[in-house]
Formats: sequence, C-alpha cells, structure tokens
Amino acid sequence: MKYYSTNRQAPLATLHEAVVKGLASDKGLYMPETIKPLPKEFFDEIENLTFQEIAYRVADAFFGEDVPADVLKHIVYDTLSFDVPAVRVTDSIYSLELFHGPTLAFKDVGARFMARLLGYFIRQEGREQVNVLVATSGDTGSAVANGFLGVDGIHVYVLYPKGKVSEIQEKQFTTLGQNITAIEVDGVFDDCQALVKSAFMDKELNAHMKLTSANSINVARFLPQAFYYFYAYAQLKKLGKADQLVICVPSGNFGNITAGLFGKQMGLPVKRFIAANNRNDIFFNYLQTGVYSPKPSVATIANAMDVGDPSNFARVIDLYGNSHASIKAEIAGATYTDEQIRETVKQTYDETGYLLDPHGACGYRALTEGLQPGEVGVFLETAHPAKFLDTVEGIIGDKVEIPAKLQAFMKGTKQSVPLSKDFAAFKQYLLENS
Ligand SMILES: *Cc1c(COP(=O)(O)O)cnc(C)c1O
Repeated sequence: MKYYSTNRQAPLATLHEAVVKGLASDKGLYMPETIKPLPKEFFDEIENLTFQEIAYRVADAFFGEDVPADVLKHIVYDTLSFDVPAVRVTDSIYSLELFHGPTLAFKDVGARFMARLLGYFIRQEGREQVNVLVATSGDTGSAVANGFLGVDGIHVYVLYPKGKVSEIQEKQFTTLGQNITAIEVDGVFDDCQALVKSAFMDKELNAHMKLTSANSINVARFLPQAFYYFYAYAQLKKLGKADQLVICVPSGNFGNITAGLFGKQMGLPVKRFIAANNRNDIFFNYLQTGVYSPKPSVATIANAMDVGDPSNFARVIDLYGNSHASIKAEIAGATYTDEQIRETVKQTYDETGYLLDPHGACGYRALTEGLQPGEVGVFLETAHPAKFLDTVEGIIGDKVEIPAKLQAFMKGTKQSVPLSKDFAAFKQYLLENS
C-alpha cells in the first residue's frame, strides 16, 4: 500500500517511509491510498471475537500488504496487552475505557503499536539503532516513552521543560531507565520543540546517528486507533445495543476521531459521530459555518484538547473530498466551557457513581444532549480521572483512588539529564552519548 500526502506535493511513500518520516516532505499528512472495506461476515460474527482478533483483522486491512502476517499479528497482540471495556453509565450511554494501558490514556495504543512496527522496520534494515526524539509538555512523553520501553534497536530521548510538568507526568518518563533518556531542559515547551527541530536539521548530527520522531500524526500511531472502535461495536452488539450506534470522541488534534471515521469507511456500522470540544471550538465553528479558522488555543481543565489548529483536520477534509456537507452529515459537534465540564463531572458522579475525567466529560455531555430516541451512545473515555487528580478531587469533593499502575510510577526514582536550552549543548550531549 502506498501513502500520499494531504498536500499532494510530495512523492508517494511506502509504509516504511511514511513511518520513519512521519510528516511528508510537503508538510502534508500521509493517507493510505485505499481504505479496504471489511466483509459482511466479519461484522456478522464480530461479537464472538476477542479484542486482539478484531484488531488483527483491522490491522491486516491497513498493513497486511506491507508486513508479514505473523509479524503483524505479533505486533497487534503485543500492543493490546490490556482491555478496552465498554462500561455502562446509563441504559443508553456507555464509556469506552481507553485508560487501562501503561500510562492510563488512549495514546498508549498508538504509541505501543508504532514502537513495535518501527522496531520491525529497523531490524529489517539491519540497522543498529534508531533514535527517537520527542518534545513533551507532559502526556505525549509518557505515552511515547512507555510505548517504546524495551523495544530493541530504539533509543528514546524525551525533552521536557524543567518545572513545567506535573510530578506524576514527570515520573512517567523519568523513572523508566533502559532505552529511555529524559532530558530536563531549562526552558519552556517551545524550547524543547526547537531543540528537536534543530537536531533534525543538523547535518553533522544526522550523519552521526539515525534520528526520527514519534509524532502523533505518524500513520503508525494514528491508524491503530481504529481498532477499538470495532471492538466497541462488538461489545455493544453483544448486548443487543448496536443497531443505532453513535460514537462521541473528546477531540483536540482530531487523530482519535479520524481513526474512527476510517473505521466507518471500512464498513463499521456507526450511525454518526460527535466531536466534543472544550472551549477550543475551531471544529465546532467549522461545522456551523463551513469556514475553518484556526486561532490560538486557550487553556482549559481538559488540557489535552487545548488545540487551536487541529493537525488532523487535513485528514478529515481529505477523507470527505473537502465537502462540508458530507462532513456535516457524518459528524456533529459540541463545545463546553470549564464550568460545564465541572458540572458534568460532578452531576454524573452524584447521579450514577461513574467518575469522568475532564476530557471524557465533554464526550458524555455531548451524548446526553445529542442522542435521539432509540440511539445508543458510546463516548471514548480517553484518560483515567486520577491523571487529573487535583482538578477531579476539587470538583467532586472526594478522594479519587489512584490505580496501582500510577502509584508504581510515583515510587520510582527520577533520573534525568539537565541541559540548557542551548542547541550546542544538546548536540554535544547526543554526539557523546550515542
Ligand atoms: C490527546 C488527548 C485527547 C485528544 O485526542 P486527539 O486525537 O488529539 O483529538 C483527548 N483526551 C486525552 C486525555 C488526550 O490525552
């Protein structure tokens, strides 16, 4: 399968090239040339299959031409070492809990898959080592570091701004050891990102070591997110509740929901999607007006969705041939203030006992407001509420139980390399230590 760029000014790429490059040379996002539909028989018996079996069928449609079956199967099964249960909140609303992976957020799925696929390509090339550079303001670093942990042939450098990430976030990528190095930059997130960009452009450094990114727009992080949409359908079908299924996705960069839209094009019987935004309502406004006007992001309590120019919007419009009418026919929108998010977390907890995180709260609320009679809604619960401990405890006025996995990180010892925001120092460090 070949991959084209949404900007259509770059040559077609193989899967291998698309994964290693991340972004196309014309700055567009890679898209698979064809989206293969899955056969009716698959959907007829899907409720009898395991998550891993379902995911492998979906992975085969995407990657089966480019990765041998046994290798791909192993990658899928190894990636999905945890469950993604659909949990009842009300009779008509279910929470697809995507937070049972190592860092308790949905990004684990894509990061784990990409790490394993990249590892395979590196071994195939006979390369010694590839170095992944990632700048993080908190959550990306933990998903990538944990996703790549222990994968042969890959070393990960996580650059993060000193004193600007929460203690729990920091522990999730500074306590791992093995093939993960955390670099604590005396600066802000933008400085970290600038260091990574300079490294990719530096000739001497690139001659010395193979560098790559693990950006969230990478096809190997983005496409595997389709797996759990099929599994959500399977679980609801088993309950006899999948006839009029609406899926709601708390969205920031729109990678997660776009993977679901791919699923629908492969035949997944979803009636429609809802994209739930916080106050960063660029997509919501696009649905109303047909005009896409990015603007600077505003800070909210659902901070992983604070995006003012969602990168995967390019994929959404490409998927629907740039037709506003087609997009509106498949996706509805919603937008909520921090006040409304707080109200939803509190009210849902009081009335149902279910504890939402601030991102999932946007998804849940959009379903309570948007479902038609007869429809059943599933929202993607994108992170565990304990990841936003202070916010959530403040809202419910109660203690939140911290999952054992998160507690284990807290017990680990922080190890980091302190560096200035100077590129020369970073370059010197890489030259001497790789
Ligand atoms: C990244 C993230 C989102 C947004 O997902 P996109 O794919 O960027 O739309 C939502 N919730 C949480 C908890 C996240 O970490």
